[in-house]
Amino acid sequence: MYEFSFFVTQYKVNMTSLYLLLGGNIGEKQKIFSKVWTSLNLKIGKIASQSAIYETEPWGFESPDLFWNQVLELSTNLSPEEVLAQTQQIETELGRIRKENQYSSRLIDIDILFYGNQIINQENLTVPHPRIQERKFALVPLCEIAPELLHPVLRKSMRQLLVESTDPLKVEKVTNFPEAHS
Ligand code: ADP
Ligand code: MG
Repeated sequence: MYEFSFFVTQYKVNMTSLYLLLGGNIGEKQKIFSKVWTSLNLKIGKIASQSAIYETEPWGFESPDLFWNQVLELSTNLSPEEVLAQTQQIETELGRIRKENQYSSRLIDIDILFYGNQIINQENLTVPHPRIQERKFALVPLCEIAPELLHPVLRKSMRQLLVESTDPLKVEKVTNFPEAHS
């Protein structure tokens, strides 16, 4: 009995709050997003909260195809590296082909914004994501679901970062979208 409750405590302690940013500007966005929600729930952890979907102008390149962006909070017991491996696998399964050009049209991009309050600086993984504070398409949905969340490096809340943002690109809520099932 003692061992069992110890296990339960450990299990709970190991769950981490993970914030992901979904983005895509080509293909059937509604279908792609709902496939991503299903895969994330299955492979990474339960979706605990979700922002609305926002229609946003491409950042860093020109395209007539507007993006859909959404922030999801998940509860996970995977390590950051395991999360990255899973998100990259989901991107590939959904048909994403990595281009030479970093900022280009894509079916789906899944970025790790925050992993608890951990700071990670590895060759293939930087957390918090290094460009959150420059991008209204990340800050607006973050503010919707976690305005008081503190950026562990910048020591500012999402609300503060949005107030200070100078990103001029349009970020508008999409109405009539389905809920991410959790
Ligand atoms: P981008 O998201 O910048 O448009 P990619 O999705 O192709 O480009 O990612 C490029 C690389 O960024 C990936 O190979 C991944 O290893 C790395 N990377 C570093 N930090 C992160 C992060 N926080 N979330 C997702 N990918 C990251
Ligand atoms: Mg990415």
